[in-house]
Amino acid sequence: MNFADYKRFLELFMGDDEFREQFDSSPDLTLRKYGLKPELSTAFLCAVAQGCRSYDFRLVAEQFPAELARLRSFALKFEEENPFTKRCRDACGSNVCFEAWRDRRRSANRAVLQPLYFDRSFNIAVAYELGIGCTGGCEFCCFDAPVLQENFRYTVENSRLWRSVLTLFRDLLGDRAGAASLYWGTDPFDNPDLEKFYLDFYEINGVWPPITSRWPLRNPERTRNFAEEGRRHGQPGCRFSITKREELRDFCNMFSPAESLDWSLVLNNPESLNRYSASGRAREIHMESLRKCQADTTSCCLSGFLVNLCRRSVQLLSPCVPDEANPYGFHLWCETVFTDAEDLKKKLKAIQDRFFPDGPERLSLIKLSPDWTVSLSHGRAKCTSRYLVRSFQVSAEEGNLLMRLKKGIARDDFDREFGGECAVFGKSRALLEMLWKSGMLSEEDSTWTGSM
Ligand code: SF4
Repeated sequence: MNFADYKRFLELFMGDDEFREQFDSSPDLTLRKYGLKPELSTAFLCAVAQGCRSYDFRLVAEQFPAELARLRSFALKFEEENPFTKRCRDACGSNVCFEAWRDRRRSANRAVLQPLYFDRSFNIAVAYELGIGCTGGCEFCCFDAPVLQENFRYTVENSRLWRSVLTLFRDLLGDRAGAASLYWGTDPFDNPDLEKFYLDFYEINGVWPPITSRWPLRNPERTRNFAEEGRRHGQPGCRFSITKREELRDFCNMFSPAESLDWSLVLNNPESLNRYSASGRAREIHMESLRKCQADTTSCCLSGFLVNLCRRSVQLLSPCVPDEANPYGFHLWCETVFTDAEDLKKKLKAIQDRFFPDGPERLSLIKLSPDWTVSLSHGRAKCTSRYLVRSFQVSAEEGNLLMRLKKGIARDDFDREFGGECAVFGKSRALLEMLWKSGMLSEEDSTWTGSM
């Protein structure tokens, strides 16, 4: 099997409608024309092509289990060996309250986001914006990024701030601080000093974060050098967003399948079969043809802090299903500004005290998240969300508590009705603890304005 050519075949089939038409009518001739030798049977490639169109790969799984297993193990090896994936998955975060908050957010998201998307997404803890705005101008931009206004250049003063902010997060979050990206509503290649910021990040966190850029072709030598620098630091894997069919063709001419084997393309051009999350500008442009939007997904992979170095601002975010209230696919818990790393430290402490409570007893209103519905029958409770069902035995008292939690119970009422401090050892307490740890209790405060 030639994985590089197979990957290029997939990219062309997904992103280029003319390639699709040609392949559909004469697969072997088309592969020859494009110089592709995936060394996989035509029948298999045709079944994959059909799966790409329908987003249904059951036929491939049923008819070609051996081929699929080989491809999966190849792709898995890439993922497993990727130090950044490992950092996101296995990092031993040193901030217990933050880690528990992230676990609860993850569990809450698991209940409402598409498992196919959710299980594969990174779960980063910090995102740094090294500028304000972006030159991308993508009509589907999930964060509705404005045009580029400013870059955070690597001056003496800025590099001092950058390194002290990185050190602060490393001290605060431990290994988890390495699970970060150096872009958000920005394009990393817009910043002429990007490489210097990456080197500092590597020095302080011991890991080289991946990149996603819309501009692999702006300066191909820079793209190549950046990718090589990443590989040298143990990080294969650049991600490039393609927004026009011509760009895909130019990309294929510029970078060979072998050279781009460890890169991935996000095929965002109009002809692509790829689907966006229904967030940001994509909500506007595809209101009439939601065909291109994927239900119950978000482009936000951050449960943690978004830091803008130009504005000196910090926000606390976590993913959610995009809707009218949260059009960018994340919930904004709070935001504030800082003057320097010392000030940021104080602000982060205030955020921690306010938003990472160590137990449900710190909530003023104890309430089940609206993502869950509850029913009781014959001593069993059934909790149902969009993608999960939890069923368990309950006593009469626990059943009563669950029903009361639908509307919410003020903390004082809870103490009075369910035993106050005594409940610490009671069954009601165990149920509450289970709901809390599973992210099933609502932690959002409707009276909260968002700024610290
Ligand atoms: S999608 Fe990315 S590259 Fe495009 S405008 Fe938004 S932030 Fe910029």
